[in-house]
Amino acid sequence: MSDDDITPSQISAVNLQRAQRYIDSGQDNLLPILKYPRRVISVNFPIEMDDGSVEVFRGYRVLHNRTLGPGKGGIRFHPEVDLDEVSALAMLMTWKCALLEIPFGGAKGGVVCDPKSLSQGELRRITRRFISELGDDLGPYTDIPSPDLYTDEQTMAWVYDTYDVMHQGNNNRAVVTGKPLLLGGSPGRREATARGCVSVTEYFIHRGLIPALSELRGSRVAIQGFGNVGEVAAQLFSECGAIIVALSDSQGGIADGEGIDLAEASAFKKTTGTLVGLAHTETITNSDLLEIDCDVLIPAALGRQITADNAGSIKAKVIVEAANGPVTPAADRILAERGIWLLPDILVNAGGVTVSYFEWLQNLDNETWQLDEVNARLHQRMRASAEATIARWQYLQCDLSGNEDAEYPLDLRTAALTLAVDRLAQITAQRGIWP
Ligand code: GLU
Repeated sequence: MSDDDITPSQISAVNLQRAQRYIDSGQDNLLPILKYPRRVISVNFPIEMDDGSVEVFRGYRVLHNRTLGPGKGGIRFHPEVDLDEVSALAMLMTWKCALLEIPFGGAKGGVVCDPKSLSQGELRRITRRFISELGDDLGPYTDIPSPDLYTDEQTMAWVYDTYDVMHQGNNNRAVVTGKPLLLGGSPGRREATARGCVSVTEYFIHRGLIPALSELRGSRVAIQGFGNVGEVAAQLFSECGAIIVALSDSQGGIADGEGIDLAEASAFKKTTGTLVGLAHTETITNSDLLEIDCDVLIPAALGRQITADNAGSIKAKVIVEAANGPVTPAADRILAERGIWLLPDILVNAGGVTVSYFEWLQNLDNETWQLDEVNARLHQRMRASAEATIARWQYLQCDLSGNEDAEYPLDLRTAALTLAVDRLAQITAQRGIWP
């Protein structure tokens, strides 16, 4: 069955249901609270374009849950941003923070636009106007944005500046994370998502959970996406001795079984805007990349890339979800049947929000930590959460007592989600329902 048409929020609903089956009864009456976003904001605002014309842009900010603390999550600029996807991504942020024991709730935002066709001036005006429309629904103790698809440190600097102009006289640095270093950004934040992804992958290999892979050194890695996460991941995996056999960006991919020269790839991308055409590499498509012969496949771009249609053709031994939601539930089932391991997004890519949390702590204290300290703390949290996920997975396998899901596998995604949802349900019960 093809699941091409499944929407991001249908995926989150299915995945939540998968976890629900394994939550202790007693708390399951609290689960409906987690099904829906707590707050949804939709805005339309005009922007004067460089040529003098006026265009109206639409933006969203969804706060899924704030049981653990203020909302936290990225803002993306992309033509395909829609409310369904932003809501699903906000829910993923809730699970990520709960899994990593970070005192934030889940949120996400986005503006429907094509950043590639916009000038810096237009992007700045869009960012400022969007943030001003959100007003006091953002704040260091309310909801804290960060970078996501096609937004970066510069975007976050504008977010900070806009909020600061609107709230003069306060230390407002903690209102946004992923800022430039000079503006209170954290050392290591830019690399954090990729660094966490390597840390978790190494840990699963070290624990012997991916039997077909004994070490990263010498393993063949393919990465879809060459943005903030994909490019840094390529670098870090290669520093661990892995061979990067394929890379891609939105225009297509490149492959070289002997290993792609990453310095050349980055330089080529910088001058031409794409990886495609890099000397001594074969040009492939993004779908070819997913099906390439490799050990570790890292989707690090958009959601819903591995579906029922191509899961049967994946050759990797393990899929590491650096992107949010790149694998659909139907694909999860096929991959599990084929013995392909999947390291789930809410664990694998949580390095970004983890160092965002460190940035927030540094901002509140007006301190800057050393890079080594940031990386050591990141490493420790990622590994602790990986271990907790493994422990939950092993426990669930022993404790099934005939209650297994006939439709979906009891995989690491289900274990990580169960852990996150269980923690939230317990905390919701401790806090009680107001009034
Ligand atoms: N946008 C990133 C994510 O999806 C980072 C979130 C954050 O740092 O708040 O995890």
